[in-house]
Amino acid sequence: RQGRIKVLLLENISADAAAFLKNAGYQVDHFTKAFTEDELLAKLPGYHAIGIRSKTKMTAKVIEACPQLLVIGCFCIGTNQVDLDVAAKHGIAVFNSPFSNSRSVAELVIGEIISLSRQLIDRASELRAGIWNKVSKGCWEIRGKTIGIVGYGHIGSQLSVLSEAFGMNVIYYDVVPIMPLGTARQVDTLEELLEKADFVTLHVPEIADTIGMIGPKEFAHMKEGAFFINNARGKVVDLSALADALESGHLAGAAVDVFPKEPGSNGPGFSEVLGEFIPRLRKLPNLIMTPHIGGSTEEAQRAIGAEVASALVGYLNYGTSLGSVNFPEVNLRAITTEDDRHIRVCYVHRNEPGVLRNINAILAAHNIEKQFSDSKGDIAYLMADISGVGHDEVKDIYEAINHTRANVLTRLLY
Ligand code: NAD
Repeated sequence: RQGRIKVLLLENISADAAAFLKNAGYQVDHFTKAFTEDELLAKLPGYHAIGIRSKTKMTAKVIEACPQLLVIGCFCIGTNQVDLDVAAKHGIAVFNSPFSNSRSVAELVIGEIISLSRQLIDRASELRAGIWNKVSKGCWEIRGKTIGIVGYGHIGSQLSVLSEAFGMNVIYYDVVPIMPLGTARQVDTLEELLEKADFVTLHVPEIADTIGMIGPKEFAHMKEGAFFINNARGKVVDLSALADALESGHLAGAAVDVFPKEPGSNGPGFSEVLGEFIPRLRKLPNLIMTPHIGGSTEEAQRAIGAEVASALVGYLNYGTSLGSVNFPEVNLRAITTEDDRHIRVCYVHRNEPGVLRNINAILAAHNIEKQFSDSKGDIAYLMADISGVGHDEVKDIYEAINHTRANVLTRLLY
């Protein structure tokens, strides 16, 4: 059955990921470029899975033209290039790889902490311009300093371990209580963190609660001469307030990897995108600006390939939607018996009353070994393992489920 699954990989997705999918028994076609909408409309029908990065746009028109498509793998972090709601309505699960670059971001922060406390980027830029400027005033070791991590998730906790190895004291603030690593300590309020830390670094997601989370009041709470780092998301920080805090000398430096608006491609044009902020930011000493490179390493790219490819295989072969961005997350432990009278029902359906009653009526004559269902918005997903199913009964079960009123997509795995 796997041999009939066709996968289209675009945008030069890692060879390791392609090999993983081939090893799973799929037919894999691999292209280095992104496809336009017209190319997708012409070539994608017939494929069961597609792997893309950020440049290929999976629009409603493309999704609707591909009834065989079961799953979309975004081999990147963002999923804006996919119409997620339309995909869900057509029973197409979408996966991405949000955490494979955590270590890369944490290491960049360590680099920035040292660079800021030694004014490294300014000294290096001056020397490139022919100016010898050997200074020690305002330059510090990081040993014994306090780092304040805002958001103690995948990145924040990695950073905690690395910072401690450099001899730093670690405090963190998170909206949920999280077990500290090493000798780190969770503080009760953001204000407490801001008041105690020599380095404040943000690792929160961009959500309603975090947009504009750091503004004039928060910078004022920070210690005189402290440093500020944002590798999370641009909209979390008020950049004008940051510029004020640096211009007044209240902060001794900052590193910013993410911006409220970012260009879609490499090259000049950043100033136009960021508009009013850029002339002010460019003039500020000890401000390191980088083009959203926190997660941009070879290792992270490889990890993304492995993570998304295995999510695709998990969904296609076993129906597991754990980690999907647009689907309810459902998983069942593997079928362990060799009994070939086992089938797994994967039923994507509209989230409406009476569905479970109908399904269980269809499955009632068999033994339901395990069953799990969940919903997300208008879409719900049920997985059930059924034993004691004769070969001649499989088609009837499929037809009955496929004809239920709420059906979006039915797959039977056996
Ligand atoms: P994560 O989901 O593992 O952790 C986020 C943590 O923030 C969680 O512990 C959560 O409880 C906490 N949090 C949420 N709201 C909060 C609030 N208001 N105050 C304090 N804590 C709050 O995410 P992660 O993998 O650690 O990544 C964090 C963010 O970093 C991502 O959301 C992403 O935006 C950004 N990121 C940037 C890059 C880059 O290239 N610069 C790369 C990867 C991730």
